[in-house]
Amino acid sequence: MAARLAPRSSRAWLTAVSRGRGPPLLPRPPWAGLLPAARSLGAAAMSSGPLWRSEGFVGGGWVKAPAVFPVRNPATGAELAQVADCGVAEARAAVRAAYEAGAAWSAVPAKERGVLLRKWHNLMIENKDDLAKLITAENGKPLREAQGEILYSAAFLEWFAEEARRIYGDIIPSSAKDRKSLVLKQPVGVAAIITPWNFPSAMITRKVGAALAAGCTVVVKPAEDTPLSALALAELANQAGIPAGVYNVIPCSRQQAPAVGELLCTDPLVAKISFTGSTATGKILLRQAADTVKRVSMELGGHAPFIVFDSADVDKAVSGALASKYRNSGQTCVCSNRFLVQKGIHDAFVEKFAQAIKKELRVGNGFEEGTTQGPLINEKAVEKVERHIDDAVSQGASVVTGGKRHSYGKNFFEPTLLSNVTTSMLCTQEETFGPLAPVIKFNTEEEALAIANSANVGLAGYFFSRDPAQIWRVAERLEVGMVGVNEGLLSAVECPFGGVKQSGLGREGSKYGIDEYLEIKYVCFGGLQ
Ligand code: NAP
Repeated sequence: MAARLAPRSSRAWLTAVSRGRGPPLLPRPPWAGLLPAARSLGAAAMSSGPLWRSEGFVGGGWVKAPAVFPVRNPATGAELAQVADCGVAEARAAVRAAYEAGAAWSAVPAKERGVLLRKWHNLMIENKDDLAKLITAENGKPLREAQGEILYSAAFLEWFAEEARRIYGDIIPSSAKDRKSLVLKQPVGVAAIITPWNFPSAMITRKVGAALAAGCTVVVKPAEDTPLSALALAELANQAGIPAGVYNVIPCSRQQAPAVGELLCTDPLVAKISFTGSTATGKILLRQAADTVKRVSMELGGHAPFIVFDSADVDKAVSGALASKYRNSGQTCVCSNRFLVQKGIHDAFVEKFAQAIKKELRVGNGFEEGTTQGPLINEKAVEKVERHIDDAVSQGASVVTGGKRHSYGKNFFEPTLLSNVTTSMLCTQEETFGPLAPVIKFNTEEEALAIANSANVGLAGYFFSRDPAQIWRVAERLEVGMVGVNEGLLSAVECPFGGVKQSGLGREGSKYGIDEYLEIKYVCFGGLQ
């Protein structure tokens, strides 16, 4: 299964996976809740409508809320849907539904939980084109990237369908003759899951796959900008036969998010908070979860260094830089945010990187063939890129290519490369989350590591080198949770995803991801003589 998220011109990045069959579609009006503009976009963009849902999904049913909020296509500004604006009351009902479904779901044999997750995966694959179009419509990313996200997203359900059967306990040799010491692993209970807009599908399944495999039930609060993918997943979960109350979704507007988040973090029926998003929001949720001492998983912001040493293959470094920086228009938490290039290779790297940006990247609507750079998610995101560039240029940075808004439309920005960048500039101090590559020139390995490790976050880091001793040294000394060595893309379902420092707590995907949803219980079995 291909798990890469970004296209490379020289690499086929989508691998077909086997198709499964689910039960027939539910007899729901396909376009309920969607506006005429969405219907015409949908008619052009989607091959079927039942995945376009606009209500919350609680206790196995679609629920309205007292208000609605608009979801817009960031490429055009067109309204796609009016979605139920779930508040505290709906969130509480969803928690209650998840809690009530918990006992029965945790008692379902692991193999059967796995079968249901596999059916859900198969339905995602069967509907992959429509799901991808939904992502492009609400997030803006190019359709090929959206297709890659759906395969990646479905792969988490497949992976955890298999992992469900491998939740092993232990028998510990006892120090007393009349005792047996056992370790059981049990689901933590209701998991509240809060996700961002940049991977509207995969950030949900990476958590929910693990939670459901472990025997937990979930309440998902998707991002305001991209609730449609979360709701489409609910439709497919329902079709797959996931029991009522096991997967609940409460979309809400940005205005409601703090109140809904607080309810999820403080309700005693919620045992676990799993969050992906900014470090600032993660800290709020951590504080709120403290009073009821909930289990927490935090996948937070990054500020990835991308180091090119003199010994690197410059062409491979350029191709890695392109993939790592510009997928999703620079809006991924593992996107390189700071390029550190050693002085001997610096000029060649900058020249070739600029050429590659001009040749390989094309800004446009994600639905247009050949687009590699869609819009940023909203105008605030565009303003942040502008602010970082203005600050850098005012301090002496040079614009090698790009540098301004793209004529295509208000949320579009030119892929940008800056040189003569120093560590006093804003873009080297915080995550840009946009298509900006700032290049800092360095002299020694020590200097590069000191700059790379000066951040208070540590999610991903990349470096290019052909010196084996240097490779080991730098891989060990980079203060990050994930390292790409001569590789610009590293996400894979079977590998642990997560960061150190203020990039978060816990790991997702891989054989470790399921532990986030399991409690360890020690059973002391006495009187055995
Ligand atoms: P964000 O503002 O923190 O939002 C993430 C989610 O939290 C959204 O659903 C948001 O709802 C919700 N939220 C915001 N404030 C909240 C509050 N007070 N209480 C409860 N929920 C709240 O992050 P973002 O800007 O959307 O996403 C970008 C960030 O996510 C970047 O820093 C990126 O590095 C990080 N990220 C990390 C990973 C990882 O795996 N480590 C993956 C992807 C992204 P609204 O949408 O309604 O505001």
